[in-house]
Amino acid sequence: MSEELSEIGLIGLAVMGQNLALNIADHGFKISVYNRTTSKMEAFVSKHPDTPGGLVGKAELKDFVDSLRKPRKIVILVKAGAGTDAVIDELVPLLDEDDIIIDGGNAKWTDTIRREKDLTAKGLRFIGSGVSGGEEGARFGPSLMPGGKESAYRELQPIWEAVAAKVDHETGKPLEGAAPGKPVEGGVTCTTYIGPNGAGHYVKMVHNGIEYGDMQMICESYDLMKNILGMDAPSIGKVFEEWNSGDLDSFLVEITADVLQQKDPATGKDFVDIVLDAAGQKGTGKWTSINALDMGTPAPTVAEAVFARCLSAVKEERVAASEILPGPDASEAPSADELIPAIRDALYCSKICSYAQGFQLMRHAQEEYDWELDFGKIAQIWRGGCIIRARFLQKITEAYDRDPKLANLLLDPYFCDAITKGQTAWRKVVALAATHGVSAPTFSSALSYYDGYRSARLPQNLLQAQRDFFGAHTYERVDQPRGKFYHIDWPVDG
Ligand code: NAP
Repeated sequence: MSEELSEIGLIGLAVMGQNLALNIADHGFKISVYNRTTSKMEAFVSKHPDTPGGLVGKAELKDFVDSLRKPRKIVILVKAGAGTDAVIDELVPLLDEDDIIIDGGNAKWTDTIRREKDLTAKGLRFIGSGVSGGEEGARFGPSLMPGGKESAYRELQPIWEAVAAKVDHETGKPLEGAAPGKPVEGGVTCTTYIGPNGAGHYVKMVHNGIEYGDMQMICESYDLMKNILGMDAPSIGKVFEEWNSGDLDSFLVEITADVLQQKDPATGKDFVDIVLDAAGQKGTGKWTSINALDMGTPAPTVAEAVFARCLSAVKEERVAASEILPGPDASEAPSADELIPAIRDALYCSKICSYAQGFQLMRHAQEEYDWELDFGKIAQIWRGGCIIRARFLQKITEAYDRDPKLANLLLDPYFCDAITKGQTAWRKVVALAATHGVSAPTFSSALSYYDGYRSARLPQNLLQAQRDFFGAHTYERVDQPRGKFYHIDWPVDG
């Protein structure tokens, strides 16, 4: 008797692939798996003999393809970039018309647009799906951001909805026992169709850019408490623990509280104090910032978060500079009772600005690429499974429910009110960081963004005049309609 075909296949059995394959199998879907290095596939399959759906390991790519029900659905979770292209090139000759390839890696959205076009021309279907939540998310419920032809997604939808995170609408806490393939009653299933071609991977990239901002803002809060108030790591951890029960309730604040209260097993010292202050990065924050520059959309807070990592990475240079470059003279610090709540407000206001920038990026990208993104839904599928999951995201969904065409999140009454309430403290914290010589790039850039965005008149009148002076770049006049350009011959007599 011939073997029953698998409902889905997965290529790439590193940390993400293994965990997603187990998640899919746990939800009752039979899944075939393949990995370039066969020994990894064999070790993985033999370790998990009894999943509800069943794992089928194949050593040859052709056997893997032949083990799948048509039209085939094949998830690729390999090293993004050349790795993904190599796998697609090997797969294509083995596939039949209408088969679906799903790239779950961290692909650049422009690569996804290219791949979707190429594969469509070959009669195949391609979905680029952002997968967020790391190892834990992939295993127990990620946030999934699929883009591509909607008809192709509808065929993947039962599996994607089954494996995605499911969280309580109010609390954002994981829901147990959701039926495979069925949206949860009263809850949020953390996946939705995002849009054509590269839309899913674009939204995943912005998610990661926002994540860069969130992490850096938390680090600045920690640094201010450490350097201005002289608090130790566990005491700062307790503050984050407290913040996690309010508006700032989020995965990143929660793990920060844990990390700060962790001891180093080797020395017994506070763990963060033995970690070197040189950050790594894999590129999605950089892509977000480059794209913001390319589109001319201001996203300075994400960019500052990327630059903060770059500055941290030149550790030896900074150590040398610390011996030479003076900071300000010591000035009086406010009390902890006064400063800690002010830092909380600064963090919340900065966070609002950072998300406002991220959503602006998506708004401009949808015009550029002719997508129709549902911003409220995007905020909703980030409620669970992903790194930036937070109670705050519900406020974003509500803002877009009130006005789906909202020009900027800052203009929504809830966010406007939150900043109105927090801005005095936010401004004090930024000023205090400056007078104490503590670097706070995301707090201060978010504030500059806020002040710039709310300014009816900026000093770029002078800039335009300078450009006209040295380069005859022309200028528009306040007393004439937009779009009419003037030049005067410099230096002007009289
Ligand atoms: P990874 O380290 O990015 O990639 C390793 C996997 O790629 C292995 O299975 C490897 O096969 C395969 N591979 C690399 N080059 C290949 C090629 N030319 N041909 C065939 N296979 C190739 O694995 P990962 O960390 O699990 O991530 C997988 C994808 O998910 C990546 O795109 C990553 O950016 C994305 N992602 C990762 C995370 C995370 O937290 N790690 C979170 C979200 C998204 P061999 O075993 O044969 O070397």
